[in-house]
Amino acid sequence: MKVLSVASEAAGLVKTGGLADVAGALPAALAAQGAEMTTFVPGYPAVLAKIGKAKAVHSWDSLLGTKARLLAGKLGGHPLLVLDAPAQFGREGGPYADAAGRDWEDNWHRFAALARAAADIAGGAVKGRAFDLVHAHDWQAGLVPAYLRLAPFKGGRVVPSVITIHNMAFQGYYPAEIFPQLGLPPSAWTVDGVESYGGVGFLKAGMQLADAITTVSPTYAGEIRSVEFGMGLEGLVLARSNRVHGILNGIDTAEWNPEHDPHLAANYSAGKLAARTKNKRAVEQEFGLERDDGPLFVVVSRLTWQKGMDVLTGVLDHLVGIGGRLALLGSGDAEIEQAFLAAAARHPGRIGVKLGYDEGLSHRLQGGGDAILIPSRFEPCGLTQLYGLAYGCIPVVSRTGGLADTVIDANPAALAARVATGIQMNAVNHNALAMAVSRAVALYHSPAEWKRLQTNGMKADFSWGASGAAYAALYRQLLEEQE
Ligand code: ADP
Repeated sequence: MKVLSVASEAAGLVKTGGLADVAGALPAALAAQGAEMTTFVPGYPAVLAKIGKAKAVHSWDSLLGTKARLLAGKLGGHPLLVLDAPAQFGREGGPYADAAGRDWEDNWHRFAALARAAADIAGGAVKGRAFDLVHAHDWQAGLVPAYLRLAPFKGGRVVPSVITIHNMAFQGYYPAEIFPQLGLPPSAWTVDGVESYGGVGFLKAGMQLADAITTVSPTYAGEIRSVEFGMGLEGLVLARSNRVHGILNGIDTAEWNPEHDPHLAANYSAGKLAARTKNKRAVEQEFGLERDDGPLFVVVSRLTWQKGMDVLTGVLDHLVGIGGRLALLGSGDAEIEQAFLAAAARHPGRIGVKLGYDEGLSHRLQGGGDAILIPSRFEPCGLTQLYGLAYGCIPVVSRTGGLADTVIDANPAALAARVATGIQMNAVNHNALAMAVSRAVALYHSPAEWKRLQTNGMKADFSWGASGAAYAALYRQLLEEQE
């Protein structure tokens, strides 16, 4: 079974969030199931630099009006295809926005070109490269199922497609004026096609036209049926509910394993937790925090409303007041960034803030922090709680999406049964978060209980095994349906 995975980022090449981790890890997870997955990403400068001298295996004189080449390489030993379209992707800045954080105005064209290319490849445009199925990720690949269904590669094969929603909040919604430039037939301009609330909806199109819709946790798959989480697409989710699947993300255990993590001052395992202290001391030093034996909370996050980071800024005085300290790594909304900097200035030695993106530091925080705070308002899956569990850094989370599915709250029943792995709160507001922080501090001062939480999480299996099998089963089902 040969699968083409289309994503706007993949760990090891380019990453802004969880999508990259998942796209990067899927090929190995599927290889274990006997499926060969080829990853297809845009040729941003960082990607071209990383793949070095790659072979061009195809070219387009006019891919939605632009010149492009297809480069072949490898990512983690698995096949990789890169769309080298300099006018679209050859610019400095982020994958979606310029250096000042403004979305590129032609994002619709950039990612329509990616999708058009994917549909061509899947249809057989490139000799010697045939695919049985396409797996599209998020709105950036949302038009892939639309092209496959409504404007397939001429004379090519028709292959089924899956779309995975990593975050319903990002839908790729554009004005109707772009429609004529997408190279889709006029008949695609309906509510059964790419039209959405009077505009073009990239994610909507994918959800409408893919053979299956998946999202990254069972709880989120249920939540997106509601107005609050569906964000305008709940009706479509309900209408296609027999095609919607929730498959939890796993973690890349080669990248995220405290026993071998090269970023840590000291490696450790569930049986050797004492060695963690060295990492805690290193974090204290790196963040200019006082050294003490009280709990060290950490945050590794986009600093946004979704992540509840505005609520956290209001709870910091309480956190410090009950003996906690905080080391935060993140970037995002200017107002929230400023609020964290102000809290650090108010509490020198107790709160340390680093604004920015730093992969190594994100590992060091998981390896040295006592608890990681994740008060998300919604969380399709969430990876930082999984890294926390694997690293003995207790997740303190809201009960939503993948956070609800992966953390076992330390309530009296779970403590008595010795199965708890973290702390959950029912709502995302000041009182609920303050109480969750207080519960964490109290538990921390019961060392035997705390250690059990740590070891329970570290022994739990969050590798890709089960989820890789679930994706492979879904692919097989779609291929059988097609026959
Ligand atoms: P989302 O994709 O919504 O941002 P996830 O929890 O699914 O949230 O994934 C976030 C990923 O990005 C994790 O791998 C996390 O460690 C990483 N990350 C987030 N912020 C930073 C940062 N400032 N520096 C380094 N890594 C970060």
